Amino acid sequence: MSEALVALRAVTKVYRLGEVDVLALAGVDLEVPKGDFAALMGSSGSGKSTLLQLCGLLDRPSSGEVIWDGQEASAFREDHRAELRGKHIGFVFQTFNLVPTLSALLNVEFPLVFQGVPGRRRRVRAKELLTRLGLADRMLHRPDQLSGGQQQRVALARALAADPELMLADEPTGNLDSHAGREIMEIFRWLREEGRTIMMVTHDPEVASFSHRILRMRDGLLEDGA
Ligand code: ADP
Ligand code: MG
Repeated sequence: MSEALVALRAVTKVYRLGEVDVLALAGVDLEVPKGDFAALMGSSGSGKSTLLQLCGLLDRPSSGEVIWDGQEASAFREDHRAELRGKHIGFVFQTFNLVPTLSALLNVEFPLVFQGVPGRRRRVRAKELLTRLGLADRMLHRPDQLSGGQQQRVALARALAADPELMLADEPTGNLDSHAGREIMEIFRWLREEGRTIMMVTHDPEVASFSHRILRMRDGLLEDGA
């Protein structure tokens, strides 16, 4: 197997809800090799989003290790983790999470501000991505002036702005009709062909069929074959 971009070793995650502990991940081992496209499936509450957040360095495990490109990342300071996320990891969510007051163009440029990319280069990059995703004539529209499928394409362009190695998508087609969903999956197909590493949560077997392998979760554990 080629080198893992991200790996989990005996990872648990416990959420404290008032007096109650919720065991969201119950001891997960996982290797995600570079270039992998893994679809994560399983019933609601099985721990899929939690697993994705840990792989994306958005959260830390309660126990176990999250290894990013060969290094134990759960021990890194938060500013270093934020820098890794900004440079190497793109996130896409079911609800798009665009900034409602900004145009499509500025939404895509936004993360590059934090990367210290100069204004002119930000603009060139954002235009290039939006054009590639079929939104050349929608760049100045705000999210509420776009369809769901268009908003998700803007969100994908934003996630790609920093040219990340790892793309994490949590039910990216969950709020879209099947036509718009298929357009999003075509984009993931290119990303796969470009050799990007992809992890995607989905309930849709047709969406999962674009992946290299399916990881099934149940009660905070990966079922065998992962
Ligand atoms: P999935 O994405 O498969 O639906 P999640 O990872 O969101 O599952 O959740 C796994 C379990 O952890 C569920 O029981 C959920 O209620 C719980 N959980 C998730 N996030 C939190 C949180 N921030 N606080 C408390 N419990 C949480
Ligand atoms: Mg979820």
